[in-house]
Amino acid sequence: MPSQTYAMSIGGRDVAGVEHIEVINPADGQVFATAPNCTPEQMDEAIAAARAAQPAWAALPFEERRARVVALAQILSDNQDLLMHLLTREQGKPHAAATGEIMGAAHWFQSAADLALPVEVLEDTDERRTETRRVPLGVVGAILPWNFPVLVFAFKVIPALLAGNTIVAKPSPYTPLTTLEVGRLFAKALPPGVLNVISGGDDLGRWVTEHPGIDKIGFTGSTATGKRIVRAAADTMKRLTLELGGNDAAIVLPDVDVEAVAQALFWGAFGNTGQVCVAAKRVYVHADIYDAFAKAMIDYAATVTIGDGAQQGVQLGPVQNRMQFDRVNSLIADSQALGHKVHSIGQVPDGDGYFVPVTIVDNPPDDARVVVEEAFGPVLPLLRFHAVDEVVARANATDYGLAGSVWSADLDLAATIAAHLQCGTVWINTIQDSPPATPIAGHKQSGLGVENGAAGLLEYTNAQTVVLRKRPAAQPA
Ligand code: NAD
Repeated sequence: MPSQTYAMSIGGRDVAGVEHIEVINPADGQVFATAPNCTPEQMDEAIAAARAAQPAWAALPFEERRARVVALAQILSDNQDLLMHLLTREQGKPHAAATGEIMGAAHWFQSAADLALPVEVLEDTDERRTETRRVPLGVVGAILPWNFPVLVFAFKVIPALLAGNTIVAKPSPYTPLTTLEVGRLFAKALPPGVLNVISGGDDLGRWVTEHPGIDKIGFTGSTATGKRIVRAAADTMKRLTLELGGNDAAIVLPDVDVEAVAQALFWGAFGNTGQVCVAAKRVYVHADIYDAFAKAMIDYAATVTIGDGAQQGVQLGPVQNRMQFDRVNSLIADSQALGHKVHSIGQVPDGDGYFVPVTIVDNPPDDARVVVEEAFGPVLPLLRFHAVDEVVARANATDYGLAGSVWSADLDLAATIAAHLQCGTVWINTIQDSPPATPIAGHKQSGLGVENGAAGLLEYTNAQTVVLRKRPAAQPA
């Protein structure tokens, strides 16, 4: 039986559910808590509260809004232990990773101190002054995924509130609890209605997307849902920032330190149990070092401990939910059925948890499902290549365009390859190295718009140009 239930934050109040959704611990497959299943009426109430609070919030000087947003960092630090336990329990990630996510989000809030809303003066003469400034949009609907329920929440809250909007956030039905708790703590530190968190299923996401009281959607999730949101937003012409799926290529040239790069890319691919939008999802290794690299990664994988994230020493937790568990297993089964060389590495706990061993597929064909589809779990294809032109073409042969990485001692060659990759971020000799000021922008079907940094902040504003004629206009003859 679920032991605890959680509350939404609406208009600065804790609001209990009328109906509930069950929340499962992925380490044992058991329901351990419930979250409110927000009704349409409760959602209307949250949006109305956000609309009512928005003019006064927008009227505060930018510096004051910014100070109040930066101050939210301390709330995360003060509550990190409580939040860490809850995050591990609902999401599955090990305690160290859960703390890393919460304190990473705190760092994001602190870094908001460096952001400003620019005023661009286009002309300032005796005749005329023309400037473009940035005004808020109104109410932001934030729709969140289950892989980073706190960090991705921070990615939306910071620009929304800095720009003078108010927000209604909806976490994933798989991981609503930590976001609800953070929302309650934050809501008490802000004027009522400025920040609201409501929980529910996919229908709630759809209602928020279609609601005329929402001016913008900040969404992180799958490309399939992103396309639904684009369609649903059309009628009310909502602004959209969409951070969607990826199938990131890593390209490893023959001049690298094989052991070091194999280890770095192990974590780049399998960290958070592979459930990272910008994980390395296809690793192309030059033929000269392919065998040594594959051995180094497999050997390293054998040293990693998989288990319940609440237990000490565990480095990789379970897959977050049953749907994703089935999906990852179906990709592995497909490779096995087609006779690919599949390495299944590591002991996983018995029981009903959603555990999958680290799985490395040795040089499957380019049209294998495990290469073409985004796995979003602990299965990774290693692919052999011979020439730079060939590998660039193979890396780009996807509808996704989120990120990629190039690994080489030859920095000029790596930069040339980077310039030819069709994706929003390219890391050279590093991966997932994106501090708060760094914009993330998905190319192709990996997204719309930019998240984070100064460019990300502008996405939460409208441009307003003011043309001031300094002298009376000449009378027509
Ligand atoms: P998802 O698209 O299934 O769900 C994301 C959110 O959308 C959930 O809150 C869900 O309830 C809601 N939703 C579902 N249907 C909706 C609809 N019709 N209208 C509005 N909202 C709806 O994604 P997920 O499974 O939670 O997350 C995994 C995916 O997210 C992966 O594809 C991954 O690559 C991607 N992702 C991308 C980034 C990024 O920054 N690009 C980051 C993390 C995850």
